[in-house]
Amino acid sequence: MTNLTELGVAAIRDGVAAGDFTAVEVAEAFNANVAAASALNAFIVATPEAAVDAAKAVDAKRAAGQPLGKMGGVPIGMKDLFATTGVQTTAASHMLEGFKPQYESTVSQKLWDAGAGMLGKLNLDQFAMGSSNETSFFGNVISPWRRKDGGNAALAPGGSSGGSSAAISARLCPAATGTDTGGSIRQPAAFTGITGIKPTYGRCSRWGVVAFASSLDQAGPMARDTRDCAIMLEAMAGFDPKDSTSLDMPVPEWEAGLNPDMKGKKIGIPREYRMDGMDEDVAKSWDDGIAWMKAAGAEIVDISLPHTKYALPAYYIIAPAEASSNLARYDGVRYGLRDLPEGAGLQDMYAATRAEGFGAEVKRRIMIGTYVLSAGFYDAYYNQAQKIRTLIAQDFAKAFEQCDVILAPTCPTAAFALGEKMSDPLAMYLNDVFAVPASLAGLPAMSVPAGVNREGLPLGLQIIGKAFDEQGVLNAGLAIENAAGFTATPEKWW
Ligand code: GLN
Repeated sequence: MTNLTELGVAAIRDGVAAGDFTAVEVAEAFNANVAAASALNAFIVATPEAAVDAAKAVDAKRAAGQPLGKMGGVPIGMKDLFATTGVQTTAASHMLEGFKPQYESTVSQKLWDAGAGMLGKLNLDQFAMGSSNETSFFGNVISPWRRKDGGNAALAPGGSSGGSSAAISARLCPAATGTDTGGSIRQPAAFTGITGIKPTYGRCSRWGVVAFASSLDQAGPMARDTRDCAIMLEAMAGFDPKDSTSLDMPVPEWEAGLNPDMKGKKIGIPREYRMDGMDEDVAKSWDDGIAWMKAAGAEIVDISLPHTKYALPAYYIIAPAEASSNLARYDGVRYGLRDLPEGAGLQDMYAATRAEGFGAEVKRRIMIGTYVLSAGFYDAYYNQAQKIRTLIAQDFAKAFEQCDVILAPTCPTAAFALGEKMSDPLAMYLNDVFAVPASLAGLPAMSVPAGVNREGLPLGLQIIGKAFDEQGVLNAGLAIENAAGFTATPEKWW
């Protein structure tokens, strides 16, 4: 009997369709893994009945000879940033603790319509702000990975989609949703040896996704491999009149279009990403990636993205600015937490609610954001950052005159230990240095596992593509995946 929790999206979909096993059997197998893994703290809420109910519906459709959908019979984890009807949606914050939305996000609804079922709501950094999942009000997620000989320190699963990455790599779900504002799909994927793609800005509707920085936020799939990401992205993407930034373009058949042949393709290697003092294992994995691309028939092109070093500071102005505006809605009036001290007036209620409901990192972002938007500093910070954003987008546009996709590391290092960077926000922010340029330019970018470092921890390679060219990104990702033959899994300790 196949171990069902070892299967990915495509294998489950095809096996259910062929009658090799039922969708209910799959849902029950993953429910059992979720229940046995509370030590990882990957889920804020488990919804085993929802997974079984969705599976029953798929099995009934099969019995009736009806089509099962792109994700037919596949149970998934839902990042707790997506509104789910009647199921607590918190953005990992105290502010929204106990909040049960009256409506479903477009992306989650599309997944259910495609035959997927929900295993539960996944932990994340509070309001998706963070790179280690340590800012969650519900406690940090622990990565299932451990260093081989480097002690037994508990490691960060990355963030903000750290519940998603930990759950997939520990086989608690075959796939999960993620969101990526400045790397939150790609960095956790790299830290845990899984695959994730942030599509072009606008591909997936933001309707019903708790907003962080609206000009950057984008949903995407996280799964074990490229094919599974392609399948899930097809189910998630598409025009939505309820999101004014949604792309009104047809959704390509990315799975059918997968092709790892790189003959005639030009792969750009950005020289500014090769930084002084770069981690040796990361540099080596990048060199491996370049060699694999050559072997797959590609031509390697040296490119320049001259404004790279300004991307991180610009991101950490623009994202907090937008966050400070988006998070103004949490005032204790309409929904979420309300703290009304005895005899307090409206202003006191606002202040008490926000002081109580937001964690330290969220408050830091709100303060930075209001500062850079304030009358005296707007031109010096916010406007400058917007200009840099334009220059970065122009860098990419020029680079793509010379190449089809760009290959770079996803992160400057492998996973770090929990607690290692929490007291130093700058060290934490530096993690995003390779991820934020593509975010600022709105480009599709993915992370694919490329090997392990000397401590046995996964390393990811990043592929950045032209706007709307998810296919080119996925194909290059598949070429890397085939060449890397990454099979490492964490040893079970939880
Ligand atoms: N780590 C980045 C931040 O803290 C990105 C987060 C994200 O993409 N949601 O802002």
